[in-house]
Amino acid sequence: MSFHALGLSEELLNALAEMNYVEPTPIQAQAIPIVLQGRDVLGIAQTGTGKTASFTLPMLDILAQGRARARMPRSLILEPTRELATQVSESFERYGRFQKLTKALIIGGVAFGDQDKLLEKGVDVLIATPGRLIDQFERSKILLSGVEILVIDEADRMLDMGFVPDIERICKLLPPRRQTLFFSATMPPPIKRLADQFLNAPKLIEV
Ligand code: AMP
Repeated sequence: MSFHALGLSEELLNALAEMNYVEPTPIQAQAIPIVLQGRDVLGIAQTGTGKTASFTLPMLDILAQGRARARMPRSLILEPTRELATQVSESFERYGRFQKLTKALIIGGVAFGDQDKLLEKGVDVLIATPGRLIDQFERSKILLSGVEILVIDEADRMLDMGFVPDIERICKLLPPRRQTLFFSATMPPPIKRLADQFLNAPKLIEV
C-alpha cells in the first residue's frame, strides 16, 4: 500500500516523499479515504500510531478549496494539552508546506496579542486547547459558526483533565452540519456518550 492509493493531492504526496514517509500506517490507510469522503470518524487509537497524519492530511486537501474569513476558522482541532496542540501545529506546517493554508495555535500561557492578530485576519485551521478557545470566544475574537470540520483528539485525556463540559459547550457553538473526527485511546462510558452526542453515523476505525 502506498500513499498514492489514498486519494491525496500531489502537494501532499510531495511533502510526504520529502519526509520519507513510504507507507501509510494502518490508521492512515483506513481513515484518509473516509475523511476525504466527508464522513465522520470514531478512531480508537493511541499516540504513536500515525493518528495525527490520519486527520491532518485529508483535512489539508478538503480545506484547500475555499478561503478563510476574518474571525471565522474553517476547521477546529481540540487538544487536551499545550504540548499536543503544538505538536499538531508543527505537523500541519510540515505536511502543508506546499499548500497555502493558514493556521493559528490557540493555547494558554502565551500573550493574546499575536493570537488576536491571526484570528482577525482569518485562519483555515485553528488548533486549540479548550480553555483558551473559550477565553478567545468570550473575548469575541472567534466566531465558530464557520467551522466545517471538527477534530476532538485524545478524548480520554480530555475527560481526565475535566474538559468534557468545555467540549460540550464548544460543540454547541458549532454548526450542526459539519464533519467530526473523534479520537480516543480508550472508550469509557462518558467518552462513548460524548461520541454518540456529537458524531453523525461515524465510521469506526480501531487500530
Ligand atoms: P502520531 O501517532 O501521529 O503522533 O505519529 C507518530 C510519529 O510517527 C510521528 O513522529 C510521525 O511523524 C511519524 N509518522 C506518522 N506516520 C508515518 C508514516 N506513514 N511513515 C513514517 N513515519 C510516520
